[in-house]
Amino acid sequence: MPDYDLVIVGAGAAGLSLAHRVSGINERRARPLRSALVEPPPGPRTPPPRTWCFWETDGGPWDHLLTARWDDLSVIAPDGTEHRSSAAPYVYKMLRSTDMQAHVRDQSDRGRDDLRLTVGSVSDGPDHATVTARTPQGRTVHLTTRWVFDSRPTAPSERGRTRLLQHFRGWFVRASPGTFDPASAVLMDLRPPQPRRGVAFGYVLPLSDREALVEYTGFGREALSTQEYERALTDYCALTGLGEVEVLASEQGAIPMTDAPFPPRAGRRVFRIGTAGGATRPSTGYTFSGVCRQTAVVARALENGGVPVPPVPHRPRHLAMDAVMLRALDRGRVRGDDFFARLFAANRLADVLAFLDGGGHFGREVLMGLSTPVAAMSHTVLEHTWHGLCTRLRVLARDGRPSGGTPR
Ligand SMILES: Cc1cc2nc3c(=O)[nH]c(=O)nc-3n(C[C@H](O)[C@H](O)[C@H](O)COP(=O)(O)OP(=O)(O)OC[C@H]3O[C@@H](n4cnc5c(N)ncnc54)[C@H](O)[C@@H]3O)c2cc1C
Repeated sequence: MPDYDLVIVGAGAAGLSLAHRVSGINERRARPLRSALVEPPPGPRTPPPRTWCFWETDGGPWDHLLTARWDDLSVIAPDGTEHRSSAAPYVYKMLRSTDMQAHVRDQSDRGRDDLRLTVGSVSDGPDHATVTARTPQGRTVHLTTRWVFDSRPTAPSERGRTRLLQHFRGWFVRASPGTFDPASAVLMDLRPPQPRRGVAFGYVLPLSDREALVEYTGFGREALSTQEYERALTDYCALTGLGEVEVLASEQGAIPMTDAPFPPRAGRRVFRIGTAGGATRPSTGYTFSGVCRQTAVVARALENGGVPVPPVPHRPRHLAMDAVMLRALDRGRVRGDDFFARLFAANRLADVLAFLDGGGHFGREVLMGLSTPVAAMSHTVLEHTWHGLCTRLRVLARDGRPSGGTPR
């Protein structure tokens, strides 16, 4: 009998979300699921604290932990025109990783071990999988388990055609009282100078009337140096009229934006979750709500005794649309600032948010598509389809079977 029912590798957004759901299951079960949540001791592999923003309707599972929430959002076009509207039925929410971590770790779960280990390898097997890890003292340990959910960062299984990054640096700033409106956030301000390809924008997420997270973001092939971000943030604060602010803390990161696949199934008993398992929406970099959808499916299967394969939490047609959009941006066929300004100006905010989060109706998506630069996008659709066809034919000629099968 293996040591555990499941081992969760990594206590980031995906690992914590899954551990939280398993604790919920254990509250209802006489025999708890035995789980291990494995996170390395603080060091180079552990990411610094971060904030996760996402939108959903009111009454979500993390509402009591939110740092901030906004009912109204605005998008500012390159010419300074502001489109402010209610996000209803959604609320834009900010959760700090440290609050989520503390909550999940404090949650009583009879079945869970929280382990400080650095995982080296995971091996699959017909009856159980084995996670091999190192203790902080350097000792090797082996954990046997029915299922492994691995959220360690990984490379995609195949090269994508387009590989961009959403790269950013943000400042938590303090200004004089009354500077910010805590009811409303700026989701996308497209006024900063634009790169030749991709897009650059700022955003302002007020935490109170005098504190906010002000961020500078780019979609492009390369991240900037910290010095370049600092300059961009200083310029952006000047552009928004904030001028001199006290910087209390900062966050910086890069999220993959690519049409390369991140398959969640890595073996018979080994699965990937989170960014490693395809939870990141390629066109936006948003991951948190994809993670929540993914772990909900896993938890249902665990509770019902099924095979807990995490789904890719995005519809295939959305992934296809994202691939086209990323390609068009990367080839410089569309101007990113123009693309996003038109998208938000011509459509109801709730419809755009629904689409970007994997919901929405096909008919509305077609109308939304018409508000983007149609000729450039159609050109890219044709090129993309042609390329896909050629790749499939090449694989067929080489192997005698199509590519992209799921391992069983
Ligand atoms: C600064 C920043 C801000 C972001 N903001 C948002 C946002 O606002 N909204 C949104 O939707 N997305 C956001 N993202 C994208 C995404 O939500 C996050 O990257 C999210 O943390 C991804 O969750 P994850 O569980 O896949 O990976 P992570 O949260 O990075 O978790 C991976 C875990 O694996 C652990 N690990 C690594 N190596 C090992 C090992 N050898 N053994 C054991 N454990 C290991 C790490 O310590 C880490 O805890 C942001 C990303 C960054 C970098």
